[in-house]
Amino acid sequence: MSSQTITVIKGDGIGPSIVEAAIQVLDKVGCNFNYEYVEAGLTALETTGELLPQTTLDAIARNKITLKGPLTTPVGEGFTSINVTLRKKFNLYSNVRPVISFKGTKARYENIDIITVRENTEGMYSGAGQIVKNEGELAEAMSVVTREGSERIVEFAFELARRENRKKVTIVHKANILKSTSGLFLKTAREVALRYPDIQASEMIVDNACMQLVMNPQQFDVIVTTNLFGDILSDLCAGLVGGLGMAPGANIGKDCAIFEAVHGSAPDIAGKNLANPSSVILASIQMLEYLGMKDKAEKILAALTDVIASGDRTTRDLGGSHGTTDFTAAMLERL
Ligand code: NAD
Repeated sequence: MSSQTITVIKGDGIGPSIVEAAIQVLDKVGCNFNYEYVEAGLTALETTGELLPQTTLDAIARNKITLKGPLTTPVGEGFTSINVTLRKKFNLYSNVRPVISFKGTKARYENIDIITVRENTEGMYSGAGQIVKNEGELAEAMSVVTREGSERIVEFAFELARRENRKKVTIVHKANILKSTSGLFLKTAREVALRYPDIQASEMIVDNACMQLVMNPQQFDVIVTTNLFGDILSDLCAGLVGGLGMAPGANIGKDCAIFEAVHGSAPDIAGKNLANPSSVILASIQMLEYLGMKDKAEKILAALTDVIASGDRTTRDLGGSHGTTDFTAAMLERL
């Protein structure tokens, strides 16, 4: 019997429909969670005047575990990304983004099983030194990389590799050009790798990594990299397994974690019952694994695998012709 309370942010756009689907799935397997619903993003701005109200921050801090739908950050006009703010505020330094091939998707590859571990608080997304001057003619931003930040994320990646019986960690960088920042990350990563002789460590420059991921993705196992590269590479990885609808992400800190879809609020399909809820369902699986509820995680994964393989009521991005609610019903039947 679990009495764990989960903070739930349904989010914007397709968020509420896919988060609702995931919660139905969690309830169906008997997780017995309590849910505390709070708001963020455009929805919160409209009702409270703030993108990230204090009540939401309090709930995240109190319950430690959050399941979150995508949030729309208004472009420009001084709005800081809510996601970046949350990651920094709660020191969620690891962003774990696994992709696996599901039979039955329209993906270009089979047998993909890659986890991208993205540093989540530093690099180009540190927010430091953002200046626009000379009447809008010159813009600057600062990339901040620390030894401590690099060490903890690379350690996280090797520990994860060890725990999950992975064979190889690829350190992705651009130290040949970004000598100070990416250079420090690579130097630190090499030192950490030496402490894990049981795991093969390899290095790859980010541009080559993009090409290699497209040409020969099966060579990758765990990837560890800095913030911006991890953001881009993990979307590329999602594309290898059938698109953003299949890509979950876990933001993990020392004692707090936020589980979410990698994708955004998909305004082009919002309100049309077209979204694939797999991303948030897969994020829920990550959440269950984090909570040590492996049997329930496996049950949900087996149902998802079967729905997609059989093409039973799948969504358009998966080659089907059904909507979010039908897809969810197919999941619930199997559970
Ligand atoms: P997006 O990820 O919302 O959409 C990109 C494309 O993928 C669209 O064609 C969309 O229809 C499709 N797609 C995304 N999720 C899908 C799903 N579950 N099922 C089927 N198709 C899906 O990216 P965008 O349009 O660039 O961004 C929209 C908004 O989302 C922006 O405001 C952005 O800031 C925000 N955003 C939020 C997050 C987050 O909250 N974690 C992440 C990325 C973007």
